[in-house]
Amino acid sequence: MAQNISRKDFLVRAGSALAVSSIGFPSIIIPRKNEKLGVALVGLGNYSTNQLAPGLQETEHCELRGIVTGSPEKIPVWQERYGIKDSNVYNYENMHQIANNDDIDIVYIVLPNNMHAEYSIIGAEAGKHVWCEKPMAMNAEECREMIRAAERNRVQLTIGYRMQHEPNTQTIIGYGQDETYGEITEIRSGGGFNGGFLEGTWRTVANMGGGAMYDMGVYPLNAARYSSGMEPVAVRAKQWTDRTDIFPNVDEHMDFDLEFPDGMIANCKTSFGNNMNYLEVDCTDGWYRLEPFLSYTGVQGETSSGTELPEDPNHQQARQMDNDALAIKNSTQPVVPGEEGLADMVVVDAIFKSAANGNEWVEL
Ligand code: NAD
Repeated sequence: MAQNISRKDFLVRAGSALAVSSIGFPSIIIPRKNEKLGVALVGLGNYSTNQLAPGLQETEHCELRGIVTGSPEKIPVWQERYGIKDSNVYNYENMHQIANNDDIDIVYIVLPNNMHAEYSIIGAEAGKHVWCEKPMAMNAEECREMIRAAERNRVQLTIGYRMQHEPNTQTIIGYGQDETYGEITEIRSGGGFNGGFLEGTWRTVANMGGGAMYDMGVYPLNAARYSSGMEPVAVRAKQWTDRTDIFPNVDEHMDFDLEFPDGMIANCKTSFGNNMNYLEVDCTDGWYRLEPFLSYTGVQGETSSGTELPEDPNHQQARQMDNDALAIKNSTQPVVPGEEGLADMVVVDAIFKSAANGNEWVEL
């Protein structure tokens, strides 16, 4: 099957593409090496306010220097709190002018999901490296356009899948690669919360990328892929909504099964109705699990051989942004390149297709 590429093959291919393009000239624009890189947050909602801006106070290799916002009342608050210069403040209409601003090396897109592609491309066309939140975009085609824009402008495009930077998550990725507990026989993962408070927000609007699958479903999906190191070959999905008053036209719940090349099945769930936050991996010689597996703090786990995976005390987003800034400074492959967001979105497209066709298997 054409899309049946293992993760190892994928990384080898991605790595060789990078190596080829760096012969003779750098594959990306590399900013001044010894300085912190300047980040502009695009969209000053909950995640920027409560996680990313505080995280950027702890980073070693990048710092908050700019903002892009459509809410003028937020500007003085952010300028005062973070010492942001007038010349580093933009709105959505003039964001392209960031091209002329040497203070800013990176734009970080933290907008509703239907705006990710458009503003990532504006950032790339302005010659800025782009960090974009999950889910990467609305569908695989938008992801491909974003990747092309980054390549054309020789900038890095990196997706905000913070779990892949988290130490316990990296440990279990290693268990999968090394087959520490044998071959994986089954994966179970669920990510969700009771989202009654989301009523009236963009997360309940279909054409803005609302619904549980886009918001929380990408965590178990990404986890099944990073735990196994493989790409699924088929998927089936079932969606339903109990509270149609709150979620009139998006999925409140989605159950999906991923089939991997060796026949292994990952059983995944996501929900805006129920709290769930687990990743369990069964193997021929044992098992391991993380619970919670996707929280900002407290990610922890255990294995069948009694190994404890205790919480890492460091700021998750600071670690992610430092890793991503270093990849730009050193012109190396980021931990989560755009291709990784695309790989998820290819599966998400198939999940929606299966859900619309009564849970039938869709081949990838
Ligand atoms: P939010 O609703 O709190 O913020 C969205 C921001 O976009 C607001 O500042 C809003 O003013 C702005 N905006 C601009 N145009 C808008 C429009 N037409 N409609 C609505 N808002 C508009 O959302 P959030 O929780 O900050 O999420 C933003 C992005 O970050 C999403 O893609 C989400 O998936 C992602 N996110 C990621 C994580 C993570 O752990 N990686 C966590 C939370 C959110």
